[in-house]
Amino acid sequence: MLAKLGARYAPVERCDASLDELGIFADFDEYSGGVYSSTMELAVRGKPTPLVALRWSPGRGVRVWAKLEWFNPFSLSVKDRPALLILEKLGVPRGSRVYEASSGNFAVALSAVGAVLGYRVRVYLPGFAGGGYAERVARLLGAEVVVDERAEFTPQLLERLRRDAAEDGAVHPNQFTNDYNFEAHLRGTAREIDYQRLRGGLRLRGVVGGVGTSGHMAAVAFYFKSRLGEVDVVLAQPARGEVIPGIRRRETGMLWLDLAGVYDDPVDVTLDEALEVVAEVARSDGILLGPSGGAALAALRKHCESTGCMQGDYVAVIPDTGFKYLALVDGRAEAGSDG
Ligand code: PLP
Repeated sequence: MLAKLGARYAPVERCDASLDELGIFADFDEYSGGVYSSTMELAVRGKPTPLVALRWSPGRGVRVWAKLEWFNPFSLSVKDRPALLILEKLGVPRGSRVYEASSGNFAVALSAVGAVLGYRVRVYLPGFAGGGYAERVARLLGAEVVVDERAEFTPQLLERLRRDAAEDGAVHPNQFTNDYNFEAHLRGTAREIDYQRLRGGLRLRGVVGGVGTSGHMAAVAFYFKSRLGEVDVVLAQPARGEVIPGIRRRETGMLWLDLAGVYDDPVDVTLDEALEVVAEVARSDGILLGPSGGAALAALRKHCESTGCMQGDYVAVIPDTGFKYLALVDGRAEAGSDG
């Protein structure tokens, strides 16, 4: 396995980052005093996002540290990082059209960064996302929004998107196959966790999260398997027939997870199980995780119960906040606690 052999470069087609270079943290801006000259500077330099120890625990001797990606300013999610790097690398002039398919956070991130950089962004959303936060916020950010009622999943939007993009001369970044998605998380999410584990004196035993494109967890898993070798990688996937916003099942195909080859079998989680943990963490720690963050922690608890967890610290990436999903979180958490 490449990672075990200590590969210095990530095994993707186009990634300029080496592990040596990633171990340098000089660009993390701790001394700004929280003052930034623009929203763009905040998004790029206002890092790392917080890593916070939770009172919530999946079992004795296991401490969970939540990396709160909703502290990213544009989409309040893990998707600011890839949107920033992908748009920066596009190299097309201001005023260019950029078309992308997304079910939520990436649509918002791209619309926001596109607005600042002067791109004309159009996002294609599947039917279920219509009327939700993504459609409303993307419109507010000045993006054009196309909701395709017939599309149940994001990939079903691609044929129409490609046709429109060809007609209009638009660029299609494609977050599912664009290696800058993976690289953004190597340079950002993974490297920040490394820095924070050193600063906080963590005994890092595992990393935990869910997968959509697989950009962030493939990068985090690859980074720590390469650096530390023995690290549990716990991935959450929706149980068959279940829908958890932002994540999907392993067999639907995930580019970087396959390339990096650094994970154990994903753990099945139902939406109710995810929302139960969201409610537990709300009551133990006073913060409201999004459903995919709840799914990550639910998967960790199952993993500890079945396979056993090592004593020490586990870092869970929490992609966004439950404030975006109040109807879902509120309704189900109540139903769950009623038994
Ligand atoms: N959770 C949420 C809420 C998301 O929006 C996403 C991606 O859009 C993910 C998890 C999965 O992230 P990735 O695409 O990096 O696998």
